[in-house]
Amino acid sequence: MKFAITSKGDDKSNKLMQRMKMYLQDFELTLDEERPDIVISVGGDGTLLYAFHRFKYRLDQTAFVGVHTGHLGFYADWTPDEIEKLVIAIAKTPYQVVEYPLLEVIVRYKHGGVPSKFLALNESTVKGVEGTLVMDIEIKGQQFETFRGDGLCVSTPSGSTAYNKALGGAIIHPSINAIQIAEMASINNRVFRTVGSPLILPDHHTCMMKPVNQNDFIITIDHLQVLQRDVKSIQYRVSDEKIRFARFRPFPFWKRVRDSFIAD
Ligand code: NAP
Ligand code: MN
Repeated sequence: MKFAITSKGDDKSNKLMQRMKMYLQDFELTLDEERPDIVISVGGDGTLLYAFHRFKYRLDQTAFVGVHTGHLGFYADWTPDEIEKLVIAIAKTPYQVVEYPLLEVIVRYKHGGVPSKFLALNESTVKGVEGTLVMDIEIKGQQFETFRGDGLCVSTPSGSTAYNKALGGAIIHPSINAIQIAEMASINNRVFRTVGSPLILPDHHTCMMKPVNQNDFIITIDHLQVLQRDVKSIQYRVSDEKIRFARFRPFPFWKRVRDSFIAD
């Protein structure tokens, strides 16, 4: 079996990464940064987001595992003192794989040209470059509302505990193949009206955002930020691709939610 390992870059994560590398090689696993079967991320959820984007070209052949060197994470749910156990589990046991939904983003341009396609593990947000964002929002091909406000956040189920949660969105179990649209400070008065609630779309529904007056937007894809000019539309839907996580022990999603936000 071939593995790759990424670190957050701090001392603690780097040392842990080196130790795991040695252990895994002792167990006859091969380090392969190009075609890994398993990718281990050491750091936090942010580190796993980075690992996802680094290896997204082979999602169907790679399983991810996250070790946290700070606080408990949603993707990084192994502790440093469990790594011996984890290495043995990776080397010796056929592991289970769970799949989580991803978000597909397609940006089309007014001048035509090749559309840009992105894949997000947590979410994609849209904000204006200057002033209020104004967007016509179409759902499943029909005009739904004209949004005016700071921005919009479209998240995956596993991203629902991140930015989406701070915007008042619901926490969605990752076994549900859906995306969630949450508003950032919409303008609501006698003239302008939005639905005000987060929306959850199933996998056969598409959300299309069409600019009303501006053409340039700041679009984020997880931790990445891109300036998009001359935008004709931004299309969001559940991706056909999924991320795979290697599971060596049960750690139910709702327990992770409780341990992260309530008490552990
Ligand atoms: P960051 O600013 O270092 O991370 C923001 C926080 O979000 C960190 O505590 C991170 O955990 C946590 N996080 C990431 N994914 C999560 C998930 N699926 N569920 C719960 N918490 C999660 O930036 P980053 O580490 O590069 O992460 C980028 C993410 O930050 C974006 O995808 C977005 O979700 C989030 N963000 C949140 C807000 C907000 O809540 N107002 C604003 C902007 C961005 P770790 O410490 O373990 O990395
Ligand atoms: Mn982080």
